[in-house]
Amino acid sequence: FLRRKSLLQYLRQAVVHDFQGFIAYFQPVQDIHRGEPYGAEALLRFQCSDFGMVSPSEFIPLLEESGLIIPVGRWILARAMEFCKKMQETIPHFKISVNVSYIQVMKSDLIRDISALLDEYQLSADSVQIELTESGFFESDQNYIRFCASLRTLHIPLALDDFGTGYSNFHYLYHINPQVIKIDRSFTLKALNNDYEFTLLRHMTQLTHSINSKMCIEGIETAEELKKICELNPDYIQGYYFSKP
Ligand code: C2E
Ligand code: MG
Ligand code: MG
Repeated sequence: FLRRKSLLQYLRQAVVHDFQGFIAYFQPVQDIHRGEPYGAEALLRFQCSDFGMVSPSEFIPLLEESGLIIPVGRWILARAMEFCKKMQETIPHFKISVNVSYIQVMKSDLIRDISALLDEYQLSADSVQIELTESGFFESDQNYIRFCASLRTLHIPLALDDFGTGYSNFHYLYHINPQVIKIDRSFTLKALNNDYEFTLLRHMTQLTHSINSKMCIEGIETAEELKKICELNPDYIQGYYFSKP
């Protein structure tokens, strides 16, 4: 409790002091068929004197509970677009993927923020991919579906993150129609170690392709894991094997 309380104070201070302590990391996402990076995912970090480097799994919930995720979410979106613009000088089709919290979808005008930043950094709408997890869907499906529809109208790609770890409601896939479905490392590990889970992931990949979406497998660390996972015919791979964030 005390750690959370103190960390929240640091986070508040950071937000009012021009986001000092927040750091944007980027991890490449490899296009398996082309054998080159498809783009990268922006991953938030926070560092302060008392706690050192704090993991997002610890501070993102605090940012969400306090509403600070709204300004911080805007900040990481801007850093991501700035980075993407720079990368496109060497890789013209480079795409940046940004995680977005359900709080941002529910409590801010995220579509307006994304559009304003796309203008500011002179990026085409398809350069930025928005990542959502399915966990917020149940409480707020209409908001989510409306948000997803606005992204589609603006031609901003959407990725469904952490698929297969929660309820994996296949019914929503039809409404949301994501460009990319991402499999979390926890599921990847299960699939690598268990025949049933491996077969399940094979069927999920086929389903993903049948609705014209792409499959991204996260958490590949070794060449053996890569070889085995490629039997499933995924489209993109993200993991330490290619690069850490
Ligand atoms: P995520 O969006 O699913 O991100 C992938 C996570 O898997 C990252 O953890 C990444 O470092 C890790 N990862 C990738 N490849 C490997 C691998 O081969 N081995 C291992 N062990 N790990 C790998 P990270 O950076 O700690 O982020 C954790 C989660 O925090 C993210 O999961 C995302 O849900 C959330 N997050 C991070 N940045 C942001 C942000 O800017 N906004 C929001 N709303 N959430 C964020
Ligand atoms: Mg993600
Ligand atoms: Mg993920």
